Amino acid sequence: MTKRIYLDWNATAPMRAAAIEAIAGESRRWANPSSVHGEGRSAKGRLERARESLAAAFGAMSPQLIFTSGGTEALALALRGTTMPRILVSAIEHSAVLEAAPGAQKLPVDADGRLCLSALRDALKDGPALVALMHANNETGVLQPVDEVIDMVRACGGRTLVDAVQTAGKMRLPAADFVAVSAHKMGGPPGAGILIARCADQLEAGQKGGGQERGLRGGTENLPGIAGFAAAAQAFESDWLAAAGARHGRLERAVKAAGGIVVGERAQRLPNVSMIRMPGVSAASQLMALDLAGFAISSGSACSSGKVGASHVLAAMGMDETAAGEAVRVSSGWQTEDEDMERFAEAWVRLAGQRRAA
Ligand code: PLP
Repeated sequence: MTKRIYLDWNATAPMRAAAIEAIAGESRRWANPSSVHGEGRSAKGRLERARESLAAAFGAMSPQLIFTSGGTEALALALRGTTMPRILVSAIEHSAVLEAAPGAQKLPVDADGRLCLSALRDALKDGPALVALMHANNETGVLQPVDEVIDMVRACGGRTLVDAVQTAGKMRLPAADFVAVSAHKMGGPPGAGILIARCADQLEAGQKGGGQERGLRGGTENLPGIAGFAAAAQAFESDWLAAAGARHGRLERAVKAAGGIVVGERAQRLPNVSMIRMPGVSAASQLMALDLAGFAISSGSACSSGKVGASHVLAAMGMDETAAGEAVRVSSGWQTEDEDMERFAEAWVRLAGQRRAA
């Protein structure tokens, strides 16, 4: 049987051995961190040590970390709990943002998928707002001008929320007022995340309940998941990213030579992501053919790829529905090897040739 090649790391990453061990270890000694008995106090100690280690990994202070069930809940906590009078979001945010803030004003992006700073400047003339912007887009990998946005928003008394789900561990995280991170994109388990809240006084409680997380997020903490998250963050190394950049560069050159198109090519992007378009061939048919050939990739975000309809990210970049429906996402990670990407490039080029000839 030929080896399956997993190139869908932006959807989720394989769990690191250190995370699996930490989860197993914590599961064996389970106690509720809110209990006052010795076992509970010991669990509370481990919870706080995990908080400190994650805070150090992400350049924050431990009291600023609020544990959540993942990126989606961290984003919703900041958006639904904001005390700001209005919310601005980029049009390319993940659905976790768009659906948690349905009344938000959407800001456009340019053809390369970067937020239009002039549109933000105009929108801020109407007064302070919570501005939500992702650090890197999950579909295209395009990096957003978060540092400029933080300065602009701060100058007018607003607040910023950065979705760092795709960049945590890979890059220094921005010093936004709120930052959302998810464990399962960096080798931790699904079901664990954090909101870094640098101004938690400007946040109303999300899920009310037993008073956990300083009353901001009720519910017994997922200590095994949190332990796995902390272990994954500690084990995370970013040295594979340079090799990933070189591999994606070779893939993109092969794609272009075979008549394909690289989405967001002119923008700065995460080195482990390529969104590539095969003109005349639907993404669904590419996914099926490449899956049969042994490759796991996706079209747009994993969440939207199960649905019919073009990606809102590509639509916001000005692509028509047909073009957007021909793009697939290839995302790699720390276990990807040169040969994996070479085999994928050959398979993609072969498929493009077959479809052209058909
Ligand atoms: N934000 C981005 C950019 C994502 O890629 C994802 C997951 O795909 C999320 C948020 C949601 O994170 P989670 O799956 O931890 O809820």
